[in-house]
Amino acid sequence: MTNSTTREIPFGRPAITDEDRQRVADVLNGHILTHGPECQAFEAEFADFMGGGYAVSTNSGMTALHLAYFYFEIGPGDEVLVPAQTHIATVHAVELTGATPVFVDCDPTTGNMDLSQLEALITPRTRAVSVVHFNGIPVAMDQLTHIAQQHDLRIVEDCALAVGARYQNKHVGLWGDVGCYSFYPVKHLTTGEGGMYVTQHEHIAVQSAKLRAHGVDRKHDERSLPGNYDVPYLGPNYRMSELQAALGRGQIQRLAANIETRRQNFNRLRDGLLSAFEGDIVVLDAQSPNSESSFYCLSVVLKDEWRSLRDDLIRSLREQGVGTSIYYPRPVPEMSYYANKYKLPAGQYPNAARISYGSVALPVAPHVDTADIDYIIERFSYSLKGLLA
Ligand SMILES: *Cc1c(COP(=O)(O)O)cnc(C)c1O
Repeated sequence: MTNSTTREIPFGRPAITDEDRQRVADVLNGHILTHGPECQAFEAEFADFMGGGYAVSTNSGMTALHLAYFYFEIGPGDEVLVPAQTHIATVHAVELTGATPVFVDCDPTTGNMDLSQLEALITPRTRAVSVVHFNGIPVAMDQLTHIAQQHDLRIVEDCALAVGARYQNKHVGLWGDVGCYSFYPVKHLTTGEGGMYVTQHEHIAVQSAKLRAHGVDRKHDERSLPGNYDVPYLGPNYRMSELQAALGRGQIQRLAANIETRRQNFNRLRDGLLSAFEGDIVVLDAQSPNSESSFYCLSVVLKDEWRSLRDDLIRSLREQGVGTSIYYPRPVPEMSYYANKYKLPAGQYPNAARISYGSVALPVAPHVDTADIDYIIERFSYSLKGLLA
């Protein structure tokens, strides 16, 4: 051991400032708690950050995803292609509509959906494809768009880990029909709970905003008589509150700097780990001028022979103050709900399984400084070598 001082490095920590707290307090000191200017400003600022498109705030990433299928009237009898390796919400959003999710394995170097498997899985019932930009690594959206156009499929991008990620200089979420973000506490920016539904198409944004708010025809400021409106559509209440929007707004201003810190942390951590274990580990990554990650976290995938060491490695890191996570703990088709319902044969998604059962997610967010990164490299090497000895 060369570094004797144990550090405490959590996997994630919301970065809330006094100014953010003041913005929330200002809303509480006023009298507009929903349907107000904070959500409108948050939406406009989010679209600005992306460099275009339309943004509609929601109360979670999950509800944004569900709103997309609701808008496209996808339901029983329809099929939606989904990643086997993703957060459960990507798939639950499909399942909740009554449509059938059809799982696609991932690329073992990025965690993103393996697009070469798509065409074989498309049937006359396939209506849409959903992709997750895994850990913020953009999916090759030009290829996906090409396949989707040929088969008349809608594209729903799950961008929950991908604020700031760009493919060919276009922000993710603006390639497909709809993109969905999450502001859950460990994500790039947080509103406690919350999400954003984005699209490059104005008509989708306008109609989806109505569906999101009980299917009411007019916004508050469009009503000539207070309280008077009609309801032409069926719709849930997936609105964000003014308190949440106020909390998110200041964080948008810090996003670019936040992602730059993540990039530096990520590259330093990747280089350190690869120089110790090159050939025996894979770091999920795909940086190029064409593909800008948002560096959500750094996932190290152990080689198959070392998979059984993974849980002990996590325990050892925890004892030394290194917070970790697992993105994601099982391929979705192996989660009990889906395993029981669809009874898909085990071992059908080997690359998703490789990541679920053989990877460790390490922190790179701005709460981690350079000395922390060096500590993580050193402790990771020490722990893994100890387990191999
Ligand atoms: C966090 C996350 C979600 C869910 O977002 P919520 O805001 O918690 O509903 C969906 N997809 C991915 C990929 C996520 O990481």
